[in-house]
Amino acid sequence: MLHDFRNEAYTDFSKPENRQKQEEALKLVASQSSRVYPLYIDGKDVTTGKFIKSYNPSHTSQLVGTFHKAGQAEVDLAMDAALRAFEKWRLVSPRERAIVLLKAAQIMRRRRFEVNAWMITEIGKSWNEAEADMAEAIDFLDFYAREMLRWSEIKGTVPFPNEFPELSYIPLGVGAVIPPWNFPMAILTGMASAAIVTGNTVLLKPASDTPCIGYLLVEIMKEAGLPPGVLNFIPGSGAEIGDHIVAHPKTRFISFTGSKEVGLHINQLAAQLSPGQIWIKRVIAEMGGKDTIVVDSETNLEEAATAVVASAFGFQGQKCSACSRLILVEDIYEPFIAMIVEKTKKLTVGAPELPTTYMGPVANQGSEEKILSYIEMGKKDGRLMCGGAKAPGDGYYIQPTIFADIKPGTPLDQEEIFGPVLAVIKAKNFQQALELANATEFGLTAAVWTNNRYKIEEAKKRVHVGNLYINRKCTGAMVGVHPFGGFNMSGTDSKAGGMDYLGLFMQAKSVSERLI
Ligand code: NAP
Ligand code: MG
Repeated sequence: MLHDFRNEAYTDFSKPENRQKQEEALKLVASQSSRVYPLYIDGKDVTTGKFIKSYNPSHTSQLVGTFHKAGQAEVDLAMDAALRAFEKWRLVSPRERAIVLLKAAQIMRRRRFEVNAWMITEIGKSWNEAEADMAEAIDFLDFYAREMLRWSEIKGTVPFPNEFPELSYIPLGVGAVIPPWNFPMAILTGMASAAIVTGNTVLLKPASDTPCIGYLLVEIMKEAGLPPGVLNFIPGSGAEIGDHIVAHPKTRFISFTGSKEVGLHINQLAAQLSPGQIWIKRVIAEMGGKDTIVVDSETNLEEAATAVVASAFGFQGQKCSACSRLILVEDIYEPFIAMIVEKTKKLTVGAPELPTTYMGPVANQGSEEKILSYIEMGKKDGRLMCGGAKAPGDGYYIQPTIFADIKPGTPLDQEEIFGPVLAVIKAKNFQQALELANATEFGLTAAVWTNNRYKIEEAKKRVHVGNLYINRKCTGAMVGVHPFGGFNMSGTDSKAGGMDYLGLFMQAKSVSERLI
């Protein structure tokens, strides 16, 4: 019997034996930098002779791995394989499909230190951030396996005289799964496994910054016994092959997580009919955020300050849920800023392979340039309280940066920066703070800190985001506990890790037999 879903417990790195295992895994990953990886299509390795190189953002000249790169021909090859595999996989019982995910979760548990090491090396996660990402990936596998069993038992009809009505949920077809680099194991695994367990087959295009982590899931799924053609791995540049994947007439759905710009482009392209296409493509798009924490005077300021700093600077602020706007009521404005500045100055920035590092590098040179340009804007539009420059090292290190006195409507208040930059905004009172919290085009996460019951109730009703937290940080959603996904320009209102999610990958078929 399968036990109820439980979130995966985190490794305790204060124990020397765990630290040692993590160190060994980091050495293993470092020793594999000269590996050249193939595409994986129809259960076979495929090479193209054109390459993507993955570098370590903490030591920018260090190669992490080299990948054969998919072009349009390989997309077409993968599509043919996925179409063929769909004819068999769609008929496999939900139970058998769920077992593959449960086995994959077990394998990932066994290889957890190695999974962490790839994330520390390829994208600059600290040990604890890597551990949380890996544990979330296990959670998605365990949760969606159980969810598939639940969906397969839903009785969707009422009795009718002389008929046997039934409703069942069937898969859609071949889906494109296009994840971002920022939760390179959790989001990639969650999107791919949800599509697979519901009976679809997949073209997986990993983010170009994190192909090694995508390949690791392919290895794990292979070991878990996923049949050939169900998961096809086609690393390649989104700009070069993305449109071809999305516009392909046989693509039935696109499951995307990434920026607003790319998400909107995919949505638009998917709405256009390609010759030979016989369905309306479904788009599940999880996009950016400009996430706010409101702090009221009637609260525990010390705890609130700790939560703000963790939400703003964990993984260098590169979470879609990261706090990048802090709205403070007037009477605590200066003292609260002093508290977060003091805590921020204690954060360690440096090479993430060291267990003592809190903040590693940002993802790549483009990110670094973009973040530094917002920092320059902040110096004109606000009052620099700490940070404001690159940090030392041979990677893309940026100091955690706080600007006070940012005015509503300016770029630092409105635009997703996706880095360690926090804008502080003053509100006259709690009412105005909630109004300002809602005044962006996004609607992903927010947190409100107050102990006043009337204010809590008001915040719950008025703050329009997909994930609202009261007296807690605005990052760190747990699978099953905090189903995750945003409103407005943050996406198509879906909830990853929630009980509705698998429905997005299926369609309901009603069959009724009349007795004659
Ligand atoms: P991104 O630049 O939009 O890229 C996301 C994925 O889309 C990558 O695999 C990328 O491939 C691919 N892509 C690029 N152009 C494409 C095209 N024309 N057609 C199809 N695919 C294309 O986003 P990112 O920088 O990786 O991730 C950061 C963003 O993700 C932030 O905005 C963040 O808020 C958002 N995010 C949202 C959530 C959520 O749940 N709402 C969660 C995590 C992250 P290449 O890598 O090859 O360019
Ligand atoms: Mg890289």
